[in-house]
Amino acid sequence: MSQDTLVNRQFGHRARLALSPAGVRAADDQAHAARTMWNLLHAGWQMMPKERRTLANADAAIRQAREDINFLAVLPAQAAQAVLKTYFRAWKNCWEGRADAPNFKGRLRTVMSVDIPQGRDLNITRVHRRWGMINIPKVGRVRFRWTKDLPVGRRANTENRITGARLIKDALGWHIAFRVQTLEVKPDPHQGPDVGIDVGVTVPIALSDGETYEHGEWLTEKEKAKLLHLEQRAAQRKQHRKPGERTSRRLHHTYDQIAGLRAKAKRRALDWQHQTTTVIARTYGTVVVEALTITNMVKSARGTIEEPGKNVAQKSGLNRSISREAWGRTVTMLTYKTAQLGGTLHKVPAPGTSRRCSACGSTTPGNRESQAVFVCKNPDCGWSGNADHNAARNVLHLYRMGLALIPAAGRAVVRRAKRVKPAAAR
Ligand SMILES: [Zn+2]
Repeated sequence: MSQDTLVNRQFGHRARLALSPAGVRAADDQAHAARTMWNLLHAGWQMMPKERRTLANADAAIRQAREDINFLAVLPAQAAQAVLKTYFRAWKNCWEGRADAPNFKGRLRTVMSVDIPQGRDLNITRVHRRWGMINIPKVGRVRFRWTKDLPVGRRANTENRITGARLIKDALGWHIAFRVQTLEVKPDPHQGPDVGIDVGVTVPIALSDGETYEHGEWLTEKEKAKLLHLEQRAAQRKQHRKPGERTSRRLHHTYDQIAGLRAKAKRRALDWQHQTTTVIARTYGTVVVEALTITNMVKSARGTIEEPGKNVAQKSGLNRSISREAWGRTVTMLTYKTAQLGGTLHKVPAPGTSRRCSACGSTTPGNRESQAVFVCKNPDCGWSGNADHNAARNVLHLYRMGLALIPAAGRAVVRRAKRVKPAAAR
């Protein structure tokens, strides 16, 4: 008899909160305080001489601020500590080349959120088939929609538990995102075939075996017309506002309606992505994708002052469609879904996959006749087909040739060149 191997799994689960109007106000206040805390930290950091920029000094500063500034005290101490931790992680990401330097958080641009870093503070119970209860610090007991079996109460132990959570507000109101850790039986290796996937330009997802996954518009004609109308009305109202005048309640209401429609479109897109990635992860054992860095692609189109980008307008159009398809999220979903089903996801270097012929391997100029059609200009070959299908076949070839970059399943650690960090980071 063989012992099943167990593997640790970490994932997030998002649930809708049923807050009272007073609870909503309390959560709003906490989120504003968290944002203000971040901004104070950032201001203090920039004013501090380099050698004094340490975690201890910043910690002392936020403790002082919580005592001095009344409205900051609404933020629970643990949440304030989480802001500090996130701020330091932001600098670390910057120093290690993963992100730009942290910046001030504007009132309207920032997603409202509050951290509850300790899972045990949540005290989760299930009260009904559809409802659970949690403790939100300084808000109280709150109901949330129970849509997934969470390891709480008697089912919780050191391996299976909720390690923390974060409150997040979107157009539909406050939600809670749990961080869940479980110990699960390792799935048997997936016996399905290999497949290459291309980020579609004409097709959202094209597979190397010729399969494509498409979707319609996220909003109906009627909804699109309404969105346009609302946007025009918002622009008009904004135009008639005198300088310095407060945003009217009516304009705020219009903004909320716009945000609601956009959230609806996003929810539908997310649903499509989940369904598609689940089908792919169930069907194939090895999934190969291009290693694209979307932030770089968006940036490089614009170029720098010394080296302005070429075809900026075209590329930014492409970038927009890439962001719209949210390729990064598709890859994230595929990564954990393949791992859960015993498959693997691999990334291969991207350059040339859309210009190279997948039948003969030649990169002759003019191979790609249009965005949609690929016709090989090599006289001995002459392969033709959908351009995205061709690219997907190239992606799979690269993997079969052993060019996979990072085994992306599980928690991949990307090795980067060490850079010299400022003294405070050590
Ligand atoms: Zn060819």
